Amino acid sequence: MNNPSHKEKKKETPVVDNYDRKIDYLRISITDKCNLKCVYCTPEKALTHFNRSEILTDEEIVRFVQVAHRHGLSKVRITGGEPLLRKNITGLVTSIKNIGIRDLSLTTNGLMLSSLAGQLKDAGLTRVNISLDTLDAVRYKKITRGGDIALVWEAIKSAESAGLSPVKINMVPIKDMNDDEIESFASLTIENNFHIRFIEFMPAVNDGTWSKEKYIKSAQILKKISALGEITPFTFRGTGPSRNFRIRGAKGVIGIISPLSDHFCAHCNRLRLTANGKLRPCLFSKETIDIKTPLRNGISDEQLEMLFLQAIKSKPQGHGLKDKQILSSPINTMSEIGG
Ligand code: SAM
Repeated sequence: MNNPSHKEKKKETPVVDNYDRKIDYLRISITDKCNLKCVYCTPEKALTHFNRSEILTDEEIVRFVQVAHRHGLSKVRITGGEPLLRKNITGLVTSIKNIGIRDLSLTTNGLMLSSLAGQLKDAGLTRVNISLDTLDAVRYKKITRGGDIALVWEAIKSAESAGLSPVKINMVPIKDMNDDEIESFASLTIENNFHIRFIEFMPAVNDGTWSKEKYIKSAQILKKISALGEITPFTFRGTGPSRNFRIRGAKGVIGIISPLSDHFCAHCNRLRLTANGKLRPCLFSKETIDIKTPLRNGISDEQLEMLFLQAIKSKPQGHGLKDKQILSSPINTMSEIGG
């Protein structure tokens, strides 16, 4: 892999899709394996995973990002599965950064982050999102089916000391699972420069885990937070679909991400690439575009560009998850796609 030079190359204009949205963001799932089995993300029954040969190699990922970067891709998030399980993660980060990707972030459960945070920062990672759905150790073990919350707090501290900041914490509020902790999470922003991101519970597992009764709308989340003090909208560069707020006088920021209750899709700026090399125009797309087979069959850069543009042009206007269809999710587990 190259040495980290992290040079910003000439900026290209992002491609605009059929609904006038600029697509400049790619989320790459680099593994479908995870060291946790969160109840709202992964089915309880054993999942079959991709064979190693089915997963895109570092070189294949880097080549695709290079081609997409020529068409204005400026933001990449590495996710999974658990991305820190992948061998050579720091080398992959370096290679993606060296393409000229301005904003390179990673979503992790944090279990393996504390020893890697410094190396990832040096490799060119801009920041991390750490998933944490409860502040209670016993509950954490239950939600994650076995995780140790102490490791997550170590990860948060290490990420801050390494300068992977602001640390964003992803929390998915679910009725009777952790909705009584919404205020406690929001309160963390008062003394800490955390971005607490409340993400609406989506139907990610096709086994009846999602239900209308368990789903909590953003409006309800905001109402709970408002009880903590005056809340003002807060804008900063690159907010994407998150609506951001600050409690008066707080150091940190609260983000609300409402894939189900809001006009979220109108602001969508992303494509997804799965670990086995499928481009997904939308998280809930049934149609995907395979790039792995063409990559292994000697596709030219020009043809690869065409596949990137084809994925953008086939982005639907919305995810189409209307209330009545929600119960049958078109995906089996979020860990295959990366959220
Ligand atoms: N293993 C990493 C982690 O735990 O952050 C990355 C993969 S995980 C699939 C990425 C994000 O998807 C996490 O922040 C998680 O909370 C979110 N997610 C998973 N299932 C979800 C669901 N049903 N609804 C909303 N968000 C979900």
